[in-house]
Amino acid sequence: MSDNAENWIDFDRNHLWHPYTSMTDPMPVFPVVSASGVRLTLEDGRELIDGMSSWWSTIHGYNHPRLNAAAKEQLEKVSHVMFGGLTHPAAAKLGKLLVDLTPDPLQHVFFCDSGSVSVEVAIKMAIQYWHVSGKPEKSRLLTIRNGYHGDTFGAMSVCDPVTGMHHIFSHLLPEHLFADAPTCRTDNDWQDEDIAGFKALVEQHHGEIAAVILEPIVQGAGGMRFYAPEYLRQVRQLCDRYDILLIADEIATGFGRSGKLFACEHAGISPDILCLGKAITGGYMTLAATLATTTVAEVLSSGDPGVFMHGPTFMGNPLACAVACASIELLLEGDWQKQVTRVEAGLEKGLAPCRGLAAVADVRVLGAIGVVEMKQPVDMRRIQPMFVDEGVWVRPFGKLVYVMPPFVMTDSDLAFLSSAICRVVAAQ
Ligand SMILES: *Cc1c(COP(=O)(O)O)cnc(C)c1O
Repeated sequence: MSDNAENWIDFDRNHLWHPYTSMTDPMPVFPVVSASGVRLTLEDGRELIDGMSSWWSTIHGYNHPRLNAAAKEQLEKVSHVMFGGLTHPAAAKLGKLLVDLTPDPLQHVFFCDSGSVSVEVAIKMAIQYWHVSGKPEKSRLLTIRNGYHGDTFGAMSVCDPVTGMHHIFSHLLPEHLFADAPTCRTDNDWQDEDIAGFKALVEQHHGEIAAVILEPIVQGAGGMRFYAPEYLRQVRQLCDRYDILLIADEIATGFGRSGKLFACEHAGISPDILCLGKAITGGYMTLAATLATTTVAEVLSSGDPGVFMHGPTFMGNPLACAVACASIELLLEGDWQKQVTRVEAGLEKGLAPCRGLAAVADVRVLGAIGVVEMKQPVDMRRIQPMFVDEGVWVRPFGKLVYVMPPFVMTDSDLAFLSSAICRVVAAQ
């Protein structure tokens, strides 16, 4: 096949699946040939300002010299080596960065390939923990509605049963417990009854619950909802009181996105198990990590089988670890908090005009996340090209038009992006 654009785009249309797409009636996809900073360059030369950070991940923008250099340097040494029986400096360095940055009790790191796998690992840890502790009956999970934790089987089983996109598999999934999602958005409007349903489930079922799993403060792909830190504090207290592990899925929120380095910090709590992914390599490569407390690690290492039962082929991939180290260093050296606060202010101001529009149900902003919730689901075939024609990359789903720009986006690009969103939304 020649490099001719039409050839490869045709091939793509006829043979390649994209996320959640049909092979016979595919949605149009836009061909990207390069990207730099916050701009994607299409095959036909058009440039798009990227509002999505390639799904939360490219926090420093594309084609970053520091991240490129880290990848090249590691490439010259060793791009991959098995992690069974071998190790390498990039893994140790990244592990130390993660242990140092996350709450103190989290001291042990399991590297894996993707966010979904890190959720599988977290679930397996929780189940094995109670198995080894002589309480195998504690094998269910409790979560909250509107959650999203990934597309693999274990992860699907804790996604929202309605918005989670996985209902056709539901008869094959373990039956976990779902509490109503929190409705209080901030501690100022906190009402204790917001957690009553969750509390009732804990009181009734704690003898069979291994762990609570949730996305702290920001529920991502299950509804782009923000909730009060008080909810999370009370979840932590209930987990402590009833001997339940707490798994925080910070795959979307980790590394500054919500305005704190990790969203758990909004509530000042620490989970027993923490899932990280998405922005961990600055969007360069797939990598994720599951962190555990010393207590969890010690229990998993005791009894039978005495080892934690998981070990992917590409565990601790050196290239990914090296880029992740560079990305985290870049984040810490820079003024990430100021950048995120600036993006927050830019989105707040830029999206405010959407508030008055007839088709809009709600506009909300937290950290570098901006959401325009529509009253009706958007028509993707119509709305997607409208954004591209405006020179921006925004990829809505359902009723949600949302952006989480790279932290480095300038004020003028933010204004451009926001006003494009306002125009497109106004035309719905
Ligand atoms: C994206 C996401 C996942 C799944 O990560 P993948 O890398 O897509 O497997 C899990 N949990 C949350 C909160 C996510 O946002």
